[in-house]
Amino acid sequence: MIFNPEKECMSREDLRKLQSERLVKIVKHAYDNVPFYKKKMDELGVKPEDIQSIDDIVKLPFTVKTDLRENYPDKLFAVPRKDIVRFHASSGTTGKPIVAGYTAHDVENWAEGTARCLAAFGASDEDTIQVSYGYGLFTGGLGAHDGATKLGAAVLPTSAGNTAKQIMLMEDLGSTGLCCTPSYALFLAEEIEKLGVKDKLKLKFGAFGAEPWTENMRKELEDKLGIKAYDIYGLTEISGPGVGGECECQDGTHLWEDMFFPEIIDPVTLQPLPEGQEGELVFTTLDKWGMPMLRYRTRDLTHLNYTKCKCGRTMVRMGRILGRSDDMLIIRGVNVFPSQVESVILEFPEFQGQYFITVDRINNVDTFQIDVELREEFYSENSADMEKYKSALTARLISVIGIKPDLRIVAPNSIERSMGKAKHALDKRKLQ
Ligand SMILES: [Zn+2]
Repeated sequence: MIFNPEKECMSREDLRKLQSERLVKIVKHAYDNVPFYKKKMDELGVKPEDIQSIDDIVKLPFTVKTDLRENYPDKLFAVPRKDIVRFHASSGTTGKPIVAGYTAHDVENWAEGTARCLAAFGASDEDTIQVSYGYGLFTGGLGAHDGATKLGAAVLPTSAGNTAKQIMLMEDLGSTGLCCTPSYALFLAEEIEKLGVKDKLKLKFGAFGAEPWTENMRKELEDKLGIKAYDIYGLTEISGPGVGGECECQDGTHLWEDMFFPEIIDPVTLQPLPEGQEGELVFTTLDKWGMPMLRYRTRDLTHLNYTKCKCGRTMVRMGRILGRSDDMLIIRGVNVFPSQVESVILEFPEFQGQYFITVDRINNVDTFQIDVELREEFYSENSADMEKYKSALTARLISVIGIKPDLRIVAPNSIERSMGKAKHALDKRKLQ
């Protein structure tokens, strides 16, 4: 089902007009109300009147994550505090978190974006949607909750954790949709397998996001849970989950361009890249009033596809995220993304998607260790078997990544499971 055909299927020409109208208004709003943007634009010699259409977006300054930290907690808010109805914050590993403030209109738009995604995954008011994203400052829980509510579905707000109870309620209330991180979905799938209750579940689809995941992980989750697994994309700085989502074609993530304008830039030169080229994704919020973002650099590396999708939606499709440039590990001069490692591991039926990368520097040489779990049925005390699995996976990793990892096969269930966003790598060089 298409939740809002008027918007999701509008002609590219009409969309362009709407984007232009909205950009003109939001730039003026940001300039007049956020000293940070006034200063940035003044420095570039750009006035709100210089922005006449969406083509002028390239004249605007970029915003980066440290700008949000430096303006903690609310210096980027563009409305009086009485007009803010919700706060969220992203977990900062170092220093202050990033705080986002939303007006009632912003919360409404966010729910609209998430409802569009859920409808595209096949959900309707007939569904029971289990929200196993964490509820709280993290945008996952309440974001999915509001979208499912807007759709008229029944929400089962289990939040993350307490896995045995999650599965009991999933079975007893007949949840048809599951919203969580792909890592937590994998953990739930393992537990469901152990309990032997897969056939008693009514799950049809999963809305997975908040961390980059791969096509091989999709296959794994679809097989294990007996569902269709869809990508839902979003980030706190821009609103939360529901900035975009896949459709039934599973051929790219539609971005709701009437609300969030995407660009792809070269992360080094900061110049816009030609259509279809891989680069860093940048968003401008076109209809967000509490904390508007102009050209926010997401650090996500991907490409955009503007050809019309078979589903009928005209909105651009984003390719799989190769990784966050923040997640990229440079090991012995080679760029390595945890998502590449995950994808290779899942090519092998003997392994499951549980792995952990540790990078260190010993005697001035980078070390690159990957711990990976074998599936229970393949694990044995016979070291010859283990060697065979190890050398096959090592050879494949070398051919894809270009460097040799120190691969360690570990016992099933020995790698720590994640209830939220999984941490797949530790770079000890950064701790030195
Ligand atoms: Zn589509």
